[in-house]
Amino acid sequence: MAGRIRDEDIALVRERTSIAEIISDTVTLKSAGAGNLKGLCPFHDEKSPSFNVSPARNVWYCFGCGAGGDAIKFLMDAEHLSFVEAVERLADRAGLQLRYVEDDRATGRTRPQQGQRQRLVAAHAAAVEFYTAQLSTAGARTAREFLAERGFDRAAAERYGCGFAPEGWDPLTRHLRQRGFSHDELVTAGLSRPARSGSLIDRFRRRLLWPIRDLTGDVIGFGARKLFDDDDGPKYLNTPETPIYKKSHVLYGIDQAKREIAKQGRVVVVEGYTDVMACHLAGVPTAVATCGTAFGADHIGVLRRLLLDTDAVAGEIIFTFDGDAAGQKAALRAFEDDQRFVGRTFIAVSPDSMDPCELRLAKGDLAVRDLVARREPLVDFALRHVISRFDLDTVDGRVEAMRRAAPLVAKLKDQEKRPEYVRKLAGDLGMEIEPVQRAVLAAASGRSVVGPTRPDRTEPTVDSPQSMVEREALKLALQEPVLAGPMFDAVEATDYRHPVHVAVRAAIAAAGGAAAATGGAVWIESVRDACADLAAQALVGELAVEPLRIDGEPDPRYVSVTMARLQWGSVTARIRELKSRIQRINPVSDKDGYFAAFGELLSLEQHARALREQAAGGL
Ligand SMILES: [Zn+2]
Repeated sequence: MAGRIRDEDIALVRERTSIAEIISDTVTLKSAGAGNLKGLCPFHDEKSPSFNVSPARNVWYCFGCGAGGDAIKFLMDAEHLSFVEAVERLADRAGLQLRYVEDDRATGRTRPQQGQRQRLVAAHAAAVEFYTAQLSTAGARTAREFLAERGFDRAAAERYGCGFAPEGWDPLTRHLRQRGFSHDELVTAGLSRPARSGSLIDRFRRRLLWPIRDLTGDVIGFGARKLFDDDDGPKYLNTPETPIYKKSHVLYGIDQAKREIAKQGRVVVVEGYTDVMACHLAGVPTAVATCGTAFGADHIGVLRRLLLDTDAVAGEIIFTFDGDAAGQKAALRAFEDDQRFVGRTFIAVSPDSMDPCELRLAKGDLAVRDLVARREPLVDFALRHVISRFDLDTVDGRVEAMRRAAPLVAKLKDQEKRPEYVRKLAGDLGMEIEPVQRAVLAAASGRSVVGPTRPDRTEPTVDSPQSMVEREALKLALQEPVLAGPMFDAVEATDYRHPVHVAVRAAIAAAGGAAAATGGAVWIESVRDACADLAAQALVGELAVEPLRIDGEPDPRYVSVTMARLQWGSVTARIRELKSRIQRINPVSDKDGYFAAFGELLSLEQHARALREQAAGGL
């Protein structure tokens, strides 16, 4: 049994680990210039990437939430591993054999446990081996027939690791106990459970099994399909919640689909294990399924990071449903879950109410690809669904349908699409455009356009240098959107510190962003309309006419300098916060925390230097 890992081995693991590769397993990274990479932070919710990775220095850092560190720290945070587990995982990947320091028996200390996660993953790996071997036994004929009837040959079964849980109370339990797994480990892994007699029995019996893998390909659980009529359990049984299996995060097929999801910027969500297999085999390699739970916010989080789904880069998510009420409900719930996702969410409903697996059997691979190709925007689907509940032949029915449908159109994040949907809705209802437009506007005005401001920030006074530069940036966006728009939009609202400036920045975004504006009175009006309060509205009027602080015409360099000074202010504030945090860390008792914070600091200071250079350009 292992003890503490030798320090030199930990150092070697760090050295041999590609931090970009480790992080790419869960976060899609794109180039951020100067050899650095960036993506959507897995530790906080964000719309544009502030999660930075420096392969050269082997560190990562998020400018949004302040998390950061090395590859070990990333695994600890992202996968909830202990330090030892994270090092063991990286050593496995790098093909390194770790050496452990022998126990100091003189002190009477008990030996530290080998990482729990690693043990549970190892138990699952052994279980997969056991179950797949069972699939070719005589007792598994029904399981093989089940697969064959659904169009899956032996190669397909092997690719997905399909297995069979045999007859008997405890064949797997006995097998794993012989392989050295403890009673507690098998219970914790969810592979076995105590019977009333107190002895341990298998969780799955006489069922067809699909191993469920995490993003990195480790098996963390199983899905089990009932095969026999005298099995009085539910049709599908899944691994219960365990330290490594969290059903709200788990997506079946994600290990095989993740590269294609990132590459195509698209994911197809289906309902079952056989649907995932059918889609992949039919040439839709981006399919995944939830496991025994509805598609929820955590699943969206996992997918958004793979899709690099930002306001600039749009990922597409396609739900396939066999047209039943449950599927429709799930689609409509997506409306409530994450508004940012709505504009990019599509529904693919099979015409004959067949799921992808049935469709492939009945009509072939092409029909499955065609189902995905013929997707419909979620908004259209939802509107049709809402309207269908009313009798449009009566005036009351039309008015009620309009009142129910208007909030859906009002919720559209992409406001440019609203007029189009107002026209469409009016057409579908057989009404004039005007009343529909009024209903949508009324529904839209019920909500605020400004998100919560950051309460932990000290508020700079109006005439502070930071405030002045914020004003200047806002003036550029209002007066010179064609020149300043793209650079202005690229700097996040969180870099503004004065609340009323934050509100104006939000209104500019809500009005469609400065980059899309052509300027003039129309642009100023639309920003004023998007303001959440009178103070912001008044400031917009003021900033629209206040002269810029430059002699002559502003040029791109002036915009670049202004935006860099604005960001520099907020980065230096974060550096001050971090430095005071480092002073509070004890470098002896919390070596990792200390080095992680130090890595963050180096990264931040480099960023600040770059901004200062940019800010100095021409001044
Ligand atoms: Zn973050």
